[in-house]
Amino acid sequence: MRILLVEDEAKVARALEKGLKEEHYDVVVAATGEEGFFQLSAEIFDVVILDLMLPGRNGIEILKTARKQGIQTPVLILTARDTVEDRVLGLNSGADDYLVKPFAFSELLARIRALLRRGRPDQVLKLQTGDLKMDLVTHTVTRGDRLLDLTAREMELLEYLLRHEGHTVSREMLARDVWKTPERTTPLDNVIDVHMSRLRKKVDQGSTGRLINTVRGVGFLLKDDAP
Ligand code: CA
Repeated sequence: MRILLVEDEAKVARALEKGLKEEHYDVVVAATGEEGFFQLSAEIFDVVILDLMLPGRNGIEILKTARKQGIQTPVLILTARDTVEDRVLGLNSGADDYLVKPFAFSELLARIRALLRRGRPDQVLKLQTGDLKMDLVTHTVTRGDRLLDLTAREMELLEYLLRHEGHTVSREMLARDVWKTPERTTPLDNVIDVHMSRLRKKVDQGSTGRLINTVRGVGFLLKDDAP
């Protein structure tokens, strides 16, 4: 699970980053509103923790712009002032929840978990890249008019790649998010490579255009190169 933390106070940001990493979240920290917005537009996150008082563009502006652009990532805002106006403004701007500073870290964790749970039913139930289609309701995958016969693990792997389409997926990410193993090991890397190689054969063999690519030394990338 990836979290974007937009917080300009270095001390607070460091403490939150450390705590969240200990809970096995993948954390990206942005210290300004501009940087936060850039990250949010460029990458996929499961939750955004957004401080409202930021230098340059404040949290509300970022949130409004992101929602206008169709970015649906759940947002938890952090506010130093607990006024009804602030809360209403935040929620009206597209925030999913808010937390008043100072807060207990356990409270933040509980809110994040709630947002992650809530986010799930709304997620897209059909994923597609090029002529590769995955239906998460019927658990069927097709490439063009070929129906792919995938194992449960291959389905999970492919779903993960589809959700990170255009972004390189590392073996660390696969170990953590698909195999649910916090540590990456050589034997596990081999297992990942074997599954990936089988999946790639099923997806790419017999079709024009390769969708699953190896990024040497880094991981894998699902990308539709067709013009
Ligand atoms: Ca601040």
